[in-house]
Amino acid sequence: MKIPFHKACLSEEESDAVADVIKSGWITMGERTFEFERKFADYISSPNAIAVNSCTAALHLALAAAGIKEGDEVILPATTFVSTWEVVKYFNAVPVLADVDRNTHLISVSEIEKHITSKTRAILPVHYAGQACDMDSIMDLAEKNNLFVIDDAAHAFPSTYHGRHVGTLAHASCFSFYATKTVTTGEGGMVTTSNDEWAERIRRLRLHGITKDAWNRYSEKGSWVYDVSEPGYKYNTTDIASAMGIVQLSKTPLMQKRREEIAARYTEAFSSSCLIEPYEVTEYNTSAWHIYAPKLNLHRLKITRDELLAKLNERGIGTSVHFIPLYRFSCMGTENKNYSELFPNSENVFNRTFSLPIYPSMTDAEVDYVIDSVLTILHEESYE
Ligand SMILES: *Cc1c(COP(=O)(O)O)cnc(C)c1O
Repeated sequence: MKIPFHKACLSEEESDAVADVIKSGWITMGERTFEFERKFADYISSPNAIAVNSCTAALHLALAAAGIKEGDEVILPATTFVSTWEVVKYFNAVPVLADVDRNTHLISVSEIEKHITSKTRAILPVHYAGQACDMDSIMDLAEKNNLFVIDDAAHAFPSTYHGRHVGTLAHASCFSFYATKTVTTGEGGMVTTSNDEWAERIRRLRLHGITKDAWNRYSEKGSWVYDVSEPGYKYNTTDIASAMGIVQLSKTPLMQKRREEIAARYTEAFSSSCLIEPYEVTEYNTSAWHIYAPKLNLHRLKITRDELLAKLNERGIGTSVHFIPLYRFSCMGTENKNYSELFPNSENVFNRTFSLPIYPSMTDAEVDYVIDSVLTILHEESYE
């Protein structure tokens, strides 16, 4: 069997929708994008959704709306994708890494608290794998300390926290429609916020700071006149991408159901082994299950995580690791530091975790083959 780590759930429907946009003659941001924004906003019950060309762009614009300046400190988890860190650097602000929780891999609230100083301006929690962070505690902490919370929701569509959708819990939320994400437009992102002023500013900044969208400018009703109110960016998305997004949104409940089934199958199988810990989700959360990330009980095993992944690869199973913690990168200035002392939990998770295939088109037979392969290899390599 050959089971790639990821396959996007795309069909005729997406290709027809894209073909229709091409035939219409209007291919960049226009009516399809505004429809995608409305439908996305409705899905999670957010008053505003602004489509951009990546989650990285979304994070950049959300931080701009929050007024992040040079020297400000922004707290984020040590275990995340590099985007969450680099957008803080765009402002010459200071990313402050906080350790994560050993079970959930989510930024831990007590660690955030330890890092708050008079220079802290914002918290950037990441809903790892699709599991929402403890947002009530994070928002409380933010309110007490006068901080903004912008959540990196790249993994978290459609996730809920105490019955509320991720995307409605922070001052602004940033989603990704990158090729491997739960909903994809090839490349793409979305900002949601209940702050209308922020929404308006983000809408302007995504297209050069222009006060009228190009779509208005060139439509029959529009005119050639526009103003630039501040320097902006080239972060708009296209109607080609948005047409895909609209179809993907309509499939979301079905895709979500299948991911949940696969996650439940993994969890049930791994729960009965003392060699591996399933990835568990707190009872008040529902996860989008972008990632399924179990952990090895290495003290019972003769092999490392990397050796396991090589053996799975020999059996045709694609895997990944989420994430290489930020402090391990050469640009961080943390080389030669004792990682286990600085970030004991991130380091523990990093050494033990790996990500298994989880996407809607996986068959039960494929999921069973993955489970059987993992458990067989671990039994062969255990000390018992
Ligand atoms: C994928 C990802 C991003 C970046 O998304 P893009 O749309 O590729 O910019 C940001 N944060 C996390 C946690 C991600 O996994």
